[in-house]
Amino acid sequence: MKSVDVVIVGAGPAGIGMALELNKIGGLNYGVLESDHIGESFRRWPAQTRLITPSFYSNPFGLADLNSVDAAGSPAIFAGTEHLSGAQYADYLKFVADAANLPVICGCKVLQVDPNPDGGFHLVTERGELFTQFLIWACGEYQFPDLKPFPGGQLCQHYAHIEDWSILESGPYVVIGGYESGLDSAINLVKLGHQVRLLVRRPTWDLPDIYDPSQVLSPYTRERLREIESDDRLEIIFDADVVEVTQEGDHSFRVHAADGRHWDVQQAPILGTGFLKGGGARQIKELWLWDDEDRIVLSDVDESIYTPGLFLVGPQVRHDQRIYCFIYKFRQRFARISRQIAQRLQLDIEWIDGSQDGVWGPFGNSECCEGCEC
Ligand SMILES: Cc1cc2nc3c(=O)[nH]c(=O)nc-3n(C[C@H](O)[C@H](O)[C@H](O)COP(=O)(O)OP(=O)(O)OC[C@H]3O[C@@H](n4cnc5c(N)ncnc54)[C@H](O)[C@@H]3O)c2cc1C
Repeated sequence: MKSVDVVIVGAGPAGIGMALELNKIGGLNYGVLESDHIGESFRRWPAQTRLITPSFYSNPFGLADLNSVDAAGSPAIFAGTEHLSGAQYADYLKFVADAANLPVICGCKVLQVDPNPDGGFHLVTERGELFTQFLIWACGEYQFPDLKPFPGGQLCQHYAHIEDWSILESGPYVVIGGYESGLDSAINLVKLGHQVRLLVRRPTWDLPDIYDPSQVLSPYTRERLREIESDDRLEIIFDADVVEVTQEGDHSFRVHAADGRHWDVQQAPILGTGFLKGGGARQIKELWLWDDEDRIVLSDVDESIYTPGLFLVGPQVRHDQRIYCFIYKFRQRFARISRQIAQRLQLDIEWIDGSQDGVWGPFGNSECCEGCEC
């Protein structure tokens, strides 16, 4: 059986960014296993969806492009645009991986993980078995939508299953969810001429004293909402806590709210209600410690509390009130993990571009975020 030092599972921005960081460790034997293609989740985005965080080449001034996965690159330069489509971002990731000659194996889903009692992990993959000393889980959330956030959720269409808004049948539509994916659904549908009723618990674009884009609507989506706010085709219903969807006859659905209100619609309601907590980390659920809110509890180096040698990177990482669900947030944790692994294997990290001195700010400096409120 092949044996390596480190395996990263998943080749999205978390897996590719982490691999670029591991590339700096001289003598490390590692690989990235990806079930489909590099950037697969982005390739599955609806055709009209764009990254909400803007891309801009600010790297030479110590502030890397918000969407880049290393300190040198810039999706803005790569795609020549500020808000990349999913396909453009996936192409950027592939370009970065190829340029750095990263050892990525596509079409190699990890099916089973068995921790070895003496350390390390035995992996069963679609292409055979292997042993690794350390395992970095980077399976994201997008491919793990919550299809049943309430009874009858399975009757709805989840945002993550929409390939292209322009091929949907004519409305009216009911969209459930008042954050990024709910708003993106409503905006695209209205722009395509459909009548849309958007059901939200609260206006996430107007939450006083909350500034974290993981909790309030991004400026990009606010701007897009502003463009259609006065359009007669859009109706926003507030305080709508949806508790059930039922099917009424063959061609009609009823959406029920907790306060007794209901709305009928002929097309399956659209779910913009999010993803399973823990996302792809649920594939190895028993190897993590989960808290009362069903979130993964990690050590301060993002290692599993239950399973030494198992690390988590990506949007599911949380520490206290800090939510790392954007690329510019979770990339700050890469160096922390690579430093841990290098230390435990007694290997040297080749610091480049002065990153050891924090020239790249939080990017290369694994000590950033120690107690900070970012
Ligand atoms: C509509 C939308 C817009 C967004 N816009 C932004 C934005 O503007 N800016 C931003 O920073 N973030 C944005 N996000 C969030 C961002 O997309 C995610 O945080 C990011 O994709 C997470 O990266 P990841 O690498 O962890 O996961 P993913 O990109 O989902 O990658 C995970 C990879 O793991 C693979 N995989 C899963 N299971 C296995 C397995 N068992 N074996 C092998 N491979 C496996 C998958 O095929 C996939 O390629 C957006 C999200 C959505 C849904």
